[in-house]
Amino acid sequence: MTARYSDTAEVILLDIEGTTTPVDYVFGVLFPFARDYVADFLTTHQQDAQVQADLQWLRQEYETDLTQGLSVPDWQEVTGAVPYIHHLIAIDRKSTGLKSLQGKIWNQGYRDGTLRSQMFADVKPAFERWTTTGKQLFIFSSGSVQAQQLLFRYSEMGDLTGFISGYFDTQTGSKREAESYCKIANAIGVAPEKILFISDVTAELKAAQVAGMQTLFSIRLGNHSSDSEGFAAIQNFDDV
Ligand SMILES: [Mg+2]
Repeated sequence: MTARYSDTAEVILLDIEGTTTPVDYVFGVLFPFARDYVADFLTTHQQDAQVQADLQWLRQEYETDLTQGLSVPDWQEVTGAVPYIHHLIAIDRKSTGLKSLQGKIWNQGYRDGTLRSQMFADVKPAFERWTTTGKQLFIFSSGSVQAQQLLFRYSEMGDLTGFISGYFDTQTGSKREAESYCKIANAIGVAPEKILFISDVTAELKAAQVAGMQTLFSIRLGNHSSDSEGFAAIQNFDDV
């Protein structure tokens, strides 16, 4: 049998963007999807109390913008919020109301089948191979655990959540801090040396390495950097 990078690992810990999924998925697919569907979504969900709560947040933000003399689009009732929401998306404002509303739109898009997450072609075969050989699979991503679960449940390759034993997000800590990886090893109950972490960001690999984990640098089409800075590198999961 040919040697594989995962031979001495009991656990595979995976990053998402740039590792299982194109880095452009969030900006190229998710954000445009929310922008295009927000008017429809507000029309069909205007009675929903949680959607009303998001609109209250946005309305307050809008009033604050007006008070500060910022140039913003007019707001009328219900779907009248759409121009302002498009404005917030265009200026990439970190807005609580906007984030919350986008989350609901993506959730609905995944559930009704209009939205499917992208996975590289070798992802599902690797998930099958790893789990068949008794390895456990975990995810560590900056997206919320709920967003991660949606992404793997509603992928172009079908529901992949059955392969995944658990999810970690930045509630555990920064992906660039060694302590986060120590916490993950503790939570899984496996020595760090038995965990193989794969990511497209070397700062994350350095932190995982300090914590004692095995590491692999992911080189995928569309990634920001292909400089592995000395870390062992892969272009797909076929050798892992
Ligand atoms: Mg990444």
